[in-house]
Amino acid sequence: MRSEGGTVVRKRWMCFALVCLAATSALLSPGATAKAAGTCTAGTTLRLSATESSQGSLLLVQVKSAKPLTEVQGDWGGRSVPFWGEAGSTAQRKGLLAVDLEKAPGEYELKVTGQTARDKKISCRARVTVRKGRFATEKLQVGKQFVEPNSEQIKRADEERQKLRDIFDRVTPERLWDGKFRIPLHGVTTGTNFGRRRILNGNPGTPHGGVDLPGTTGTPVHAAQRGKVVLAEELFFSGNTVVLDHGLGMYTFYGHLSEIDVMTGDTLEADAVLGKVGATGRVTGPHLHWGLTVERARVNPLLIVKLLGDATEETTRKESSKPSTN
Ligand SMILES: [Zn+2]
Repeated sequence: MRSEGGTVVRKRWMCFALVCLAATSALLSPGATAKAAGTCTAGTTLRLSATESSQGSLLLVQVKSAKPLTEVQGDWGGRSVPFWGEAGSTAQRKGLLAVDLEKAPGEYELKVTGQTARDKKISCRARVTVRKGRFATEKLQVGKQFVEPNSEQIKRADEERQKLRDIFDRVTPERLWDGKFRIPLHGVTTGTNFGRRRILNGNPGTPHGGVDLPGTTGTPVHAAQRGKVVLAEELFFSGNTVVLDHGLGMYTFYGHLSEIDVMTGDTLEADAVLGKVGATGRVTGPHLHWGLTVERARVNPLLIVKLLGDATEETTRKESSKPSTN
């Protein structure tokens, strides 16, 4: 039963690293997990959802020890990897390795260190390759007034960018989320435009750091998981915006809202409505811009739902298993 469950999980992991083919051969043969794992001190194992990744992707790291663990920390090319433990498994820690959208392709070493309850040090090392992401490029020729915001708007946008950077730099040491994540719009299963680069009149802009989810104005927007509201205001580019801090350096971003229903400082439970879909900010039509930042790395938010499980699937299952007559 256990190995069967493990196979299912590994199969699901394969595809969000966007290296499905490479991962398939490595993960389907028995014992291949060890290869995907890297080297550890005796009694400890490290498993990665994939050994290769691409710009904007997210990998799950699992550290298991023969003895209960009291702490585990990770470093990947100078960035820390957030780890957490789950109730009932003291000898195991899970972590997220986040590959920024613009991280230079190459090979990076993952170093994991920690300690067991008996003060014994543990450590693991693995090499993770980052490949170039495959993102769409859109070339547009438009009137100058549409490309260049005036100096006042530039100043405002710069200040807001810095404000967001300061937020993403802060790491709340506690994990505020618990369980699976969800796509914030009911019934929406995928999003578009992640990593898309727009070249306006020959000048490349910053890549699109989130996904655009289809929705009509007024559609409720749900918190992807439990978190604390750290920003709830109107911004130049993303219009009415909410940012949730989920702890451990993980933040979700919700933009272009027609209405914000929460305030900075509020703690939202998973699924809570934080606002409504709209077309505020610099957009051509209503949709939700949804972003995910982990340890300052901008990654595709759909991957957290795939990696940690989809909270809405559970709701759907529960609903469909309810007796139809009551
Ligand atoms: Zn967008």
